[in-house]
Amino acid sequence: MIIKINGIPCECEKGEFILQIARRNGIDIPTLCHHDAFAGQGSCRLCIVELVAGGRSRIVVSCVYPVDRECEIFTENERVRRQRGMILRLLEARAPESTEIRALCDKYGAPRFERFVRVDGEKCVMCGLCVKACAELSVGAISTVNRGVTKEIATPYHEPSSVCIGCGSCAHVCPTGAIEMSETRDSRRIWGKTFRLVRCSRCGAVIGTEEELAMAAERAGQEQDGLCNTCRQERIAEVFAQSYGV
Ligand code: SF4
Repeated sequence: MIIKINGIPCECEKGEFILQIARRNGIDIPTLCHHDAFAGQGSCRLCIVELVAGGRSRIVVSCVYPVDRECEIFTENERVRRQRGMILRLLEARAPESTEIRALCDKYGAPRFERFVRVDGEKCVMCGLCVKACAELSVGAISTVNRGVTKEIATPYHEPSSVCIGCGSCAHVCPTGAIEMSETRDSRRIWGKTFRLVRCSRCGAVIGTEEELAMAAERAGQEQDGLCNTCRQERIAEVFAQSYGV
């Protein structure tokens, strides 16, 4: 099937999401809550586009909108830019401390709306990617707590979590820099807890926290070899070369 995005014919399968098709064809659509590792959530609404099909035109959220027939998509026309600008300023009011959102406001020329009430000191837009990442690991150390304006992501009772392994996946997927994680040479601190870092016995690169490696060993049913991926590959190649004399 062929659809047109900004006048460019793009090949796609029925059921593919608009965002997926656009990115595959090098067409930029901004997102905050989307991560390629997870299914679209449609929570930040930043990826809205205009869809024209069957003589009707409407604004849809591209990360969760599957294409089911020939249509024309506009990612940057006046209607989309105006609505996206308002969404960006709403997100900025929700998380005024996020430099990432401020940069997007500048990049997409979002107009100012003085009437939006700002949540001072906030960086989180409650997209939920961090909770998803943690759940994906089957850890579930963080979740959404409270409601309305007091809604936030936290560990149970805001205490250091007994199940968190300090992997930092939540901080890495956070699109607004809202999760504080700091590292020294030997330790990582996140969610109010300090974890000891383990280094590769061969090259010295950080390979994870003790808790993270213990969990990986338990799931794999075998002890870890204390090597990073690169050194492990090198060692396998060396053993192969010795065995076969190459
Ligand atoms: S650092 Fe802790 S809370 Fe964050 S994803 Fe890893 S286990 Fe979950």
